[in-house]
Amino acid sequence: MVQKKAVKAAPELESKPRSAWDVYADAKHRTAMDRLAREYMAFLTACKTERETVNWTRALALKNGFSEKFGAKACFRDMRGKTILLARKGRRPLSEGFRLAGAHCDTPRIDLKQHPLYEEVQVALAKTHYYGGIRKHQWLARELALHGVIALKSGKVVDVTLGEDPAEPVFTIADLLPHLAQKQSEQKLSEAFDAEKLNIVLGHEPAKAEKKDENGKGRVKKAILALLHKRYGIVEDDFYSAELAAVPAGPARSVGLDGSIIGGYGHDDRICCFTALSALMDAKTPEHAQIVILWDKEEIGSDGSTGAKSLFFEYCLQDLVEAWEPKARLRSVLMSAKALSADVHAAIDPDYQDVHEKMNASLFGYGPTFCKFTGHRGKYMANDAHAEYVGWLRRILDDAGVPWQMAELGKVDQGGGGTVAKYLAKYGMDVIDFGPPVLSMHSPFELASKADLYATKLAFEVFLKS
Ligand code: MN
Ligand code: MN
Repeated sequence: MVQKKAVKAAPELESKPRSAWDVYADAKHRTAMDRLAREYMAFLTACKTERETVNWTRALALKNGFSEKFGAKACFRDMRGKTILLARKGRRPLSEGFRLAGAHCDTPRIDLKQHPLYEEVQVALAKTHYYGGIRKHQWLARELALHGVIALKSGKVVDVTLGEDPAEPVFTIADLLPHLAQKQSEQKLSEAFDAEKLNIVLGHEPAKAEKKDENGKGRVKKAILALLHKRYGIVEDDFYSAELAAVPAGPARSVGLDGSIIGGYGHDDRICCFTALSALMDAKTPEHAQIVILWDKEEIGSDGSTGAKSLFFEYCLQDLVEAWEPKARLRSVLMSAKALSADVHAAIDPDYQDVHEKMNASLFGYGPTFCKFTGHRGKYMANDAHAEYVGWLRRILDDAGVPWQMAELGKVDQGGGGTVAKYLAKYGMDVIDFGPPVLSMHSPFELASKADLYATKLAFEVFLKS
């Protein structure tokens, strides 16, 4: 629940949530809110993979005077084009702590396998292996675009974005017709949709018949290979070194008669990437050093060289200490840091309110949500932020008049989930989960409130300049 700003004479005794719409009711805020929403929707439309998000971030950083020379006053470094860290020196030395916002830029999706291409009953298809926590049925019978890269043996890397321009074709996974789904409709949801049936339709027109294969199989696949070679200069073996993902095709959209909601793919967690970056770009001369990091691989457990369990962050910090304050000890710098593990929270779903414990759930439009602890079933695997840090955060946000809320994910013994918070907590820094509420999380079309987007950006500003 939101703590109302204390009135000196008579403190508000009872906790009263504050709607971000009410807090930002005046015209000046609404104009700024609409502008931010437009910028965000353009970002969300352009960035559907971690690589695209990192490329976008590099361009933004360069435009705002950040240097690729790591150790400069404002600088950035990326890791394999999938994870990126931006840093800005503060007035105070690093050893007095830095402010860190860490978000993730990967999103659940449908990846192509390394041997993807085949043909069945006159249709060419691509085999897939999904990435992250998807509800498989949500990805059927809808328009998909292909995004990614194909690395050739020559060292050349071919960028692929196909299905976003309305002039281009899209892709799709065909679903079973209700007439023949009798047996499937009686199965459990977890068993009804087979991952090996999430195959993407690539085409149907056969290559011109040659005498020897006139009625034979394989002509459709052959035609697809010819098209791919013509368009990208690739052969079938090149899929071995490709990272291609099917993602929902099309732009982010306004939702509702009042346009108060933003619908799109990947609010989780690109809404935190965008708001943290916007706040960082606007904070020119900070008190403490500021760091924003966007991680890859959060949706599959943060492993790997570009995930939050890697040493990339630590290596960057070592280099910053060397450049900015060589006498400081890395461990003291890390232990005096304050961090927000920036990730979206589940808003109470109007149709499934019973999965939430409503006193401790996040309300759409009531601002970004703190989650003191994550984990599941008795707080296992949780980062549990200490009370003193929460008290400090309450003060800085309340003093700035930014609405926020406190919640946990789902009912006890029912909900749960993890974020990157615990990988930061191991350094001894203050860290808590924080981010706006989202509806339809992990679906191809997630929903976020415009008011929450705006409040989250302002909250990051307050935190980064503290
Ligand atoms: Mn997330
Ligand atoms: Mn997620």
